[in-house]
Amino acid sequence: MSEAYDVVVIGGGPGGYVAAIRAAQNGLKTACIDKWINHDGTHAFGGTCLNAGCIPSKAMLEASELFERSRHDFAAMGIKTGEVELDLATMQRRRARIVKQLTGGIALLFKGNGVTGLPGTGTLLEGRKVRYTPVDGEERILQAGHVILASGSVPVELKSLAFDRKQVVDSWDALEFDSVPPRFGVIGAGVIGLELGSVWRRLGSRVTILEALDTFLPQLDEQISREALKQFKRQGLDIRLGTKVTAAKKSKKGLTVSYESGGESQNIEVDRLLVAVGRRPYTEGLLAGETGVRLDEHGFVIVNEECASGAEGIWAIGDLVRGPMLAHKGMDEGVMVADLIAGKVAELNYEAIPAVVYTAPEIAWVGKSEQDLKQQGVPVKTGSFPFAANGRAQALGLASGMVKIIAHRDSDEILGIHIIGPYASELIAEAVLALEYRASAEDIQRTIHAHPTLSEAMHEAALAVDKRMIHALNRR
Ligand code: FAD
Ligand code: NAD
Repeated sequence: MSEAYDVVVIGGGPGGYVAAIRAAQNGLKTACIDKWINHDGTHAFGGTCLNAGCIPSKAMLEASELFERSRHDFAAMGIKTGEVELDLATMQRRRARIVKQLTGGIALLFKGNGVTGLPGTGTLLEGRKVRYTPVDGEERILQAGHVILASGSVPVELKSLAFDRKQVVDSWDALEFDSVPPRFGVIGAGVIGLELGSVWRRLGSRVTILEALDTFLPQLDEQISREALKQFKRQGLDIRLGTKVTAAKKSKKGLTVSYESGGESQNIEVDRLLVAVGRRPYTEGLLAGETGVRLDEHGFVIVNEECASGAEGIWAIGDLVRGPMLAHKGMDEGVMVADLIAGKVAELNYEAIPAVVYTAPEIAWVGKSEQDLKQQGVPVKTGSFPFAANGRAQALGLASGMVKIIAHRDSDEILGIHIIGPYASELIAEAVLALEYRASAEDIQRTIHAHPTLSEAMHEAALAVDKRMIHALNRR
């Protein structure tokens, strides 16, 4: 006899575990199958985000930034520390502890909400049946009213540079190094390359980043990406754009990476190389037989705006489907699908998904860039305010960067907000709300922002849209 559930979720990352919790909250009998195994051989829910992505990377970014600031900024604040030393083993134990606490939290949330957590592999069969192969134990067939596919993504591997977990590594291994590589190479100046390049540079590595494109972070507003590149180069990240890696040769001492740039062949010598050239949807062992689920040419499960796959009762969310590969996007899709299954009204505004790069300074944005809007022929007006003129940023000793707001020239509706500066990741929440509520620049101008806060930079940038800044000179 098969076990029956209203909802079976395959994958327990931020997409899957959130979907399972909301489905159970909606009164549906729910199971969540997840096969993640950590490097110590133990299973944990939470997927890439909690085990090997968002959370451990932010733990290492925070610790390495404090290390850097204690060495370079504290003296100017009147704090004498003596020689500051790195204790990488403790830093890594802290990272692992934070991860364990949060992944353990999901098991508790499952229990509290009545979700059956099933460690092991789930495979979708015909007729909304799911084969469950436990981490240890006999395989079982589950019958589901609805199945939510949330198997996530894995790093793209370059053929010429296969991961070996020692010299050529992916982001998961690069988070868990037990020593600082003196020469750290990175392929790809994307989000992972910049975040992990920053971590190891702060901890003492000489970091070289090879990027294929001529443009730096092309998804950003050009004004922000120019400022970001300038600041990262000043910090000592050696970012080389327009490079084509042609070969890599391993030796006992390290790795020689050959590349072409501007028609010339060049080499770099590194001790360890992170390949961070993007991630791809992961569907290995996920589907068997005639499930009716279709994949596109890149391997993403094809879904509509509501994340329905077209096969009756089969949904797919998170990194497995189109759209940005971001944890919060997957979580919100999970909530939407669980509510739709329960017969509720639910939708997701794909135009208002924030993105953040957790470097120092942080970069965050939502909506459209100025160059995209101009290309589309949309008439715009823009305003930007520098953190150098913000009292709180000065007090924090983090007074670089800006907030930039782009509004429709005629209607005043805000179309994009872009931030580079301190706690941009926190400031962006107001921007997302503004887009969600279709606010005008005037709405933010007339909203009272506490003083002295970083959020005043948002207020001033809105004023700048109409050349009405108080704390900086308006250009006429
Ligand atoms: P995943 O988190 O990949 O989870 C999928 C789960 O399904 C995994 O546990 C997997 O083992 C399991 N699974 C797969 N197949 C099966 C199967 N057949 N049966 C059972 N289980 C299966 N995003 C942000 O928004 N903010 C960040 O700061 C951020 N930082 C990141 C840093 C790094 C280094 C990386 C690599 C990623 C980062 N991301 C960040 C991206 C984020 O981690 C992903 O967008 C997010 O984890 C996707 O969630 P998901 O649930 O779709 O998939
Ligand atoms: P990415 O798409 O952000 O960047 C990959 C970079 O590699 C691009 O700039 C690309 O042009 C470059 N590239 C591709 N092939 C190359 C080659 N052969 N040689 C040199 N450069 C090459 O991908 P990522 O940094 O690997 O991150 C993967 C996903 O994880 C992203 O979609 C991102 O959304 C997510 N992520 C998010 C965060 C965050 O939200 N803070 C942090 C880390 C990862």
